[in-house]
Amino acid sequence: MRASKAPRPKKCRVCLELFVPMKPLQVACGISCALIHAKAKQAKARVALEKVERRELRAARQRLKRLREYMQEAQAAFNKFIRLRDRNDPCICCGSYGADEDWLTGGKWDAGHFLSRGSHPELRFDEDNCHKQLKSCNGGSSKYAQKGRTVAEGYRARLIEKIGLERVEALEGPHQARRYSIEELKAIKAQYQGRAREMEKAIAIE
Ligand SMILES: [Zn+2]
Ligand SMILES: [Zn+2]
Repeated sequence: MRASKAPRPKKCRVCLELFVPMKPLQVACGISCALIHAKAKQAKARVALEKVERRELRAARQRLKRLREYMQEAQAAFNKFIRLRDRNDPCICCGSYGADEDWLTGGKWDAGHFLSRGSHPELRFDEDNCHKQLKSCNGGSSKYAQKGRTVAEGYRARLIEKIGLERVEALEGPHQARRYSIEELKAIKAQYQGRAREMEKAIAIE
């Protein structure tokens, strides 16, 4: 009979030689094999972690892409509503109705933001901040801009006439930062689609 305490030889996981373990969980024969084994384990863990990180990154990108799509749809619905609301108005910045040659791809009119969506995302769906505007004016190449006045200055002056200084200053004042969830964007889209439909019905009766 073997002495019951004597450990049985094991095969080293690294060099595959037999060795007699000193500790029950020992898997490598000596220090150098143990180091190699530890490094290999680390590398395996790193690969697993990288895989998780890549998956999370992909999911985050996907979420962002969906958010952008919903943002575009909500903005399109809002902008359509603005163009309908202002259907009888001239261009907000220059007071012109433009000319036939102003018809560009997608029409002659934009819904132009007073404070840009980029600099003021919290005002991108604010009805005071968005008005019917000639595409050429919104694109910054207005041929109707009044002398000595930039498009932005014209917009501000005519906006004050339209909604009053107080509301213009409220737009220009400080605001809470704002992020939109997909749920909110869906609700905004539905709201403005509904209001645009109502308006189209009313116009048909006019
Ligand atoms: Zn070994
Ligand atoms: Zn204009």
